[in-house]
Amino acid sequence: MNATAAEVLDGIDLSGRTALVTGGYSGIGIEVVRALAGAGAHVLAPARRPEKATEALADVDGVEIGELDLADQGSVAAYAEGVLAGGRHLDIVVNNAGIMACPERRVGPGWELHLATNHLGHYALVNRLWPAITGGARVVSVSSTGHHLSDFRWDDPWFETGYDKWQAYGQSKTANVLFAVHLDELGRDQGVRAFSLHPGAIITALGRHLQADDLTDLEIPEFRSPEQGAATAVWAAVAPELDGRGGLYLEDCHVAEVVPDGPQTTCGVRDYALDPDAAARLWAWSAAQTGVDAFS
Ligand code: NDP
Repeated sequence: MNATAAEVLDGIDLSGRTALVTGGYSGIGIEVVRALAGAGAHVLAPARRPEKATEALADVDGVEIGELDLADQGSVAAYAEGVLAGGRHLDIVVNNAGIMACPERRVGPGWELHLATNHLGHYALVNRLWPAITGGARVVSVSSTGHHLSDFRWDDPWFETGYDKWQAYGQSKTANVLFAVHLDELGRDQGVRAFSLHPGAIITALGRHLQADDLTDLEIPEFRSPEQGAATAVWAAVAPELDGRGGLYLEDCHVAEVVPDGPQTTCGVRDYALDPDAAARLWAWSAAQTGVDAFS
């Protein structure tokens, strides 16, 4: 299944709907923004580098750029406050921004950068925006088969016993899946459903920290275009087939199968990432770390 995001949205009218897409000015995210805006949605595109986003999205109508650094909880709070003050209602939230295989770096109170950005930034953003996320909305987290690389490291989430860039990425991508599982549990009664997904393999700026031997080790059979990479995210956001469902991990515009533990493969979801007890535990842990929980 190699449809593009625009093909997935063919015949779907999103006029009057508002979407928020993080990292919506590069790679997969910019194609999610283009597709949603092309179907009539008004799209909020918060950016770590607003000037870059303004340039990248200059040719897309219906987009509102803001300033947001997901690695900085103060920036997340300020951005969310602005959205709420504007009286916004969000119908779609796509947690797409991410970093991969970076050298070791700490932010805030000593948080490891992948977990701080890919998970805790989005965790706090969605919780702070919760009053604006209305019934019927969907919250979509862009995870990866990279989640096969690591379960959540309950004994050492911050890599105090030694850093590994792939374990760090893998842990954060497992956290993206667990986040969707528990958000779906919490939001269901209010009509808000949550999903996570693998977008496929796409050559983007995400690989900026990769070395030549990383690329050999990854053994990727085929790459998709960014337009194809955006397809499952927009499918998660709008597909009528997903009405009444949630907490699911998607790939290729369908629900992924659970695959056994072992080396990373190109598809499927690990059962540790869908475990509802681990999802609830991660939520409580994230609330304790950030001091934010819309459901407490
Ligand atoms: P890109 O690097 O092209 O896009 C990532 C976006 O996230 C950029 O706009 C980047 O902004 C933004 N971002 C990074 N750090 C922050 C931050 N601290 N605050 C706010 N925004 C930030 O990568 P992709 O499009 O490939 O990746 C999108 C998502 O897809 C990621 O979550 C990734 O894990 C996932 N994914 C990608 C795959 C692929 O093959 N490409 C495969 C599987 C999953 P800036 O430009 O300012 O750094």
